[in-house]
Amino acid sequence: MADHRPLVSVVCPAYREQEVLPHFHAELSRVLGPLEVNYQFEILYIDDGSRDQTLEAMKAVAAADGRVRVLSLARNFGKEAALQAGLEHADGELIITMDTDLQHPPELIPQLLEKAKEPVDLVITVRQEYQKPGWFNQIGTQAFYRVMESLSEVEIRRETSDFLLMKRNVADVLMGMQEKHRLMKGLIHWMGFAYLEVPFHVKERTLGQTKFSFLRLMALGKDCLFSFSKKPLTLATTAGLITLLVGLVWAVAALVQIILGNSNWIAHYMIVSSHVLAGAILLAIGILGEYVGRIWEQVRSRPNYLLKYDSHQANHRLAAHQPPHIKVFDTAAPKDQERA
Ligand code: UDP
Ligand code: MG
Repeated sequence: MADHRPLVSVVCPAYREQEVLPHFHAELSRVLGPLEVNYQFEILYIDDGSRDQTLEAMKAVAAADGRVRVLSLARNFGKEAALQAGLEHADGELIITMDTDLQHPPELIPQLLEKAKEPVDLVITVRQEYQKPGWFNQIGTQAFYRVMESLSEVEIRRETSDFLLMKRNVADVLMGMQEKHRLMKGLIHWMGFAYLEVPFHVKERTLGQTKFSFLRLMALGKDCLFSFSKKPLTLATTAGLITLLVGLVWAVAALVQIILGNSNWIAHYMIVSSHVLAGAILLAIGILGEYVGRIWEQVRSRPNYLLKYDSHQANHRLAAHQPPHIKVFDTAAPKDQERA
């Protein structure tokens, strides 16, 4: 008899999570077990080019559990790329994305599935008062969202996380967007699909460490800002206008001083104005550069990730089966490169 249980894909990116992965899988399996009456599951683990034993841990889990599919990226392409890889290989009618460090509690999955029965496209989780450990990271996160809130053209809520359930239609739209600097959270809000919320408490990480250092958070913030907003370009124009006006006032003032014969004053004026102008111009060029760089990356249109391993096709080369934008090559030593 045909199996009418809907297929649910659980997509889990992992980067250097060798310690926590087996625990995560045990926990996930415990939660999924009772749900198998109504659903079928596939679990996609995406190794984001880890240089520790994460891939081996995934393969061990896959050997013992037929629901598991393992993908491995050729190097560390960043969490967003790993998520994209997972979505592009997920077959489920419903897709759940979550971290593998147990900070996103698997116990929430039954609630997500229950809410997905409503006529909505997404069920998102909303974090309750969680602070990243370390004041530097906290400042980084706060700065990130402050800037986003004031400048972004889409609402990216501080409390939303990448722990969410999307229906097939959402995943299809997401995959149609071949943006280089992706931010799934942002794209999902930009798309404007109907969603329900589930509140949850982020747990402290007990094993492994966060991969989002202050610098990586800043890089992510820049991606988020310049990929979702044109406002910084307008800021440069506004700043340029103000500088110009101030310059004009100073010019008149300087003229008056010259007429009054006070030449010493002009030297100060020259120094101040040249610094202000140089700063404003460099800032404006820098902002332009951020956009030009993004246009360049988009035009160059390299794939967002390269796959080096897929457990479903482990015995033969993968290239023929991939969508055209995914290039695949045989296992090679991953480069020591990291990108958020
Ligand atoms: N991650 C990833 N690639 C990266 C960085 C992180 O796939 O380059 C994964 C990581 O293994 C984890 C999730 O993304 O499953 C969230 O990362 P992390 O826990 O370090 O971030 P935090 O929870 O501190 O924001
Ligand atoms: Mg985490």
